[in-house]
Amino acid sequence: MSRWQSDMQKRICAAVSFMLDLIFPPRCPVCDGLLKKREQIVCSRCEKNLPYVMEPYCMKCGKALEDEGDDLCPDCRRITHDFVRCRSVFVYEDRMKSAMYRFKYGGRKEYAKAFADLTVRHLGDWIRQIGPDAVISVPLHKSRMRKRGYNQAGLFAKALSERLGLVCREDLVIRSKKTLPQKNLSRSERQKNLKKAFKIRQNDVKLGTVLLIDDIYTTGSTMDALAQTFSEAGAKSVYCVTICTGKA
Ligand SMILES: [Zn+2]
Ligand SMILES: [Zn+2]
Repeated sequence: MSRWQSDMQKRICAAVSFMLDLIFPPRCPVCDGLLKKREQIVCSRCEKNLPYVMEPYCMKCGKALEDEGDDLCPDCRRITHDFVRCRSVFVYEDRMKSAMYRFKYGGRKEYAKAFADLTVRHLGDWIRQIGPDAVISVPLHKSRMRKRGYNQAGLFAKALSERLGLVCREDLVIRSKKTLPQKNLSRSERQKNLKKAFKIRQNDVKLGTVLLIDDIYTTGSTMDALAQTFSEAGAKSVYCVTICTGKA
């Protein structure tokens, strides 16, 4: 390509991105306010007090803990999980609740990139240390995918793996069973609901370490079911990352 062509290409890219900014001005993923030119990722007001999950947090599931002296949350003291460890970026409090709602149901697909940037900031070193062979989001059943139009966890997984130079494998697993919404189910009902919910699409997958991605961690039942599916398929260790998690 000649220098003139490459200059031209750069100018066209800049013009397209300028037009896109006019039509879809970049917004803060936390408060949904318009971002000012100098603000990147989040607005300066939100930047000051982002609800990051800080220590102490549960060494197993990553939930925020109240008491400095605790290693595990009450749930993880009682039950064993099928994943090695889960970590989350934010506490699922008021602001994050509305942010996740907009991301999931409000068509704000572009939040995926900002959440990925913030995840790299908060958990990048930890994820690099794990060194996953594949990053995989919790899949939606195809009927739900049709209805909603996109899988927010999938967009986030893709953006995150791009930033960390990891391989995103959205082709590996499907949600083969239409499950009930988990919200009002007890733990044992959730487990029953998720039984055989996921199916690996290839028989010859060779994966050492897998990183599972979802938007919100609640009881971990979904992550457990998916981790179990990958362990049965031969994965050696399964870790999880979510954008938000609760307080234990
Ligand atoms: Zn904001
Ligand atoms: Zn826990």
